[in-house]
Amino acid sequence: MSSLRESDRKWIDSVVKQDEIDRFLNNGRNFVDEEIIWNQLEKQKNPPDSRIKEIIAKSLELERLEPAETAALLNCRSDELWEEIFAAGLSIKQKVYGRRIVFFAPLYISNHCVNNCAYCAFRRENRAVTRTCLTDDQIRAEVKALTAEGHKRLIMVYGEHPASGADFIAHTLKIVYETSHGGDEIRRANINAAPMSVEDLRKLSEVGIGTFQVFQETYHPETYRRVHPADTLKGNMHWRLYALHRAMEAGVDDVGIGALFGLFDYRFEVMALLLHTIDLESRFGGVGPHTISFPRLEPALNTPFVENPAHLVDDKDFKKLVAVIRLSVPYTGMILTAREPESVRREVISLGITQLDAGSNIGVGCYASGEKKGEKQQFELADNRSLEEVISDLVDLGMITSFCTAGYRCGRTGHYFMDIAKSGKVHTLCMPNAILTFAEYLQDYAAGETGEKGWKLLEEELGRLPGEDLRVKVSELLERVRNGERDLYL
Ligand code: SAM
Ligand code: SF4
Repeated sequence: MSSLRESDRKWIDSVVKQDEIDRFLNNGRNFVDEEIIWNQLEKQKNPPDSRIKEIIAKSLELERLEPAETAALLNCRSDELWEEIFAAGLSIKQKVYGRRIVFFAPLYISNHCVNNCAYCAFRRENRAVTRTCLTDDQIRAEVKALTAEGHKRLIMVYGEHPASGADFIAHTLKIVYETSHGGDEIRRANINAAPMSVEDLRKLSEVGIGTFQVFQETYHPETYRRVHPADTLKGNMHWRLYALHRAMEAGVDDVGIGALFGLFDYRFEVMALLLHTIDLESRFGGVGPHTISFPRLEPALNTPFVENPAHLVDDKDFKKLVAVIRLSVPYTGMILTAREPESVRREVISLGITQLDAGSNIGVGCYASGEKKGEKQQFELADNRSLEEVISDLVDLGMITSFCTAGYRCGRTGHYFMDIAKSGKVHTLCMPNAILTFAEYLQDYAAGETGEKGWKLLEEELGRLPGEDLRVKVSELLERVRNGERDLYL
């Protein structure tokens, strides 16, 4: 393994705060009880059709499932019932979120990393990667390239390194928010970065972070140890497992969990994602994760591990796992990334996805430079269509694109958001806001056919809003958007 500088080693030794792990453990044990997971999966084998139907009905009432119920769904053997599960996924999503999909783009800020994750091109040992940490001006150039396409929301991504700690992240977040370009602007920046202490997370909370995302990668301890060497920071599984507990404690309202599918048995990971959700809900007044992500392993430069992963998830099982997550946690946002090819995205969206990225580039500095492949990328994306192409596709599926960020700016986050999401009322607030941001997009960025069919869909959605008063109000706001006003929301 390539050697670390003495100062890096000292920094690594100072990061983990053991008391910020211990206070979440139950008699020294974490919430991922392997025995419970395997027992449930075994006990719920061959579930009768009537039981699957009961579970589907419970999800349709927007109730979170219990582990035994999720295990039963994962064990469903009937193709017919799987079709019912898929259909329920879409109904739940429509009930809670309406016919809208929120769009974002990843913005990679730094790929320096002290860790050595077997699956990632940014691992410290990988000399094939060009290491870059963006300067303020380079960040501005990236933001301008993104906003010129119509993006309003980002997920900012960082390797784990002393040069990209909490102060640096907070600084880069400020630069992003300050970079306005002819009316184009980023209104919401989420963060995907390494686990931090409560003190560091408070710094991020103070500068207006959106969702803080940390993927556990795998919840299976033995696999976790195998892919994250013990002498690295990420090798400390418990520090990562409670990263989002600490974020909630630090006042970050929205957190995003996820597992990297392909590392271990997908059924185990789905059960563990549910246990993670339940643990957060039980400790933070019923508020669980704002989003769940389920990336699959992709090829990465000079990374032999990903060429033949032991638990590769095929497209059929991927559909199943997405649908089971949708039914298990009906009110949580679900993110499907451009890792997946166009055909898979089109099919999986209708299982209950709420967020997509598009026009994405996961190389550091590569929006401005235009490089799509090479030694600055973390791995290879399969869907390389532009934002407009994906939006156009969504219009064909009858879905409105939303760039809405109103929720965060009027405090509609965390507990408040969960309350309205759980009561299924999000579309009376979020659907109008989606319509308004879609109108902005169509007006400012969409050309030709996308514009034409987009306005048509928008008018149809306007007509479907509940209540004459709401329709009149949104029509008035739409008129103001047409006349050049921006960032209007309910
Ligand atoms: N360094 C931070 C960390 O590890 O938490 C930031 C995350 S990394 C830049 C973003 C995510 O990409 C990881 O959490 C992992 O799930 C995912 N990832 C890494 N290598 C991947 C690969 N080869 N294919 C697909 N996803 C990958
Ligand atoms: Fe570093 Fe994150 Fe990649 Fe691991 S996944 S090597 S921590 S950037």
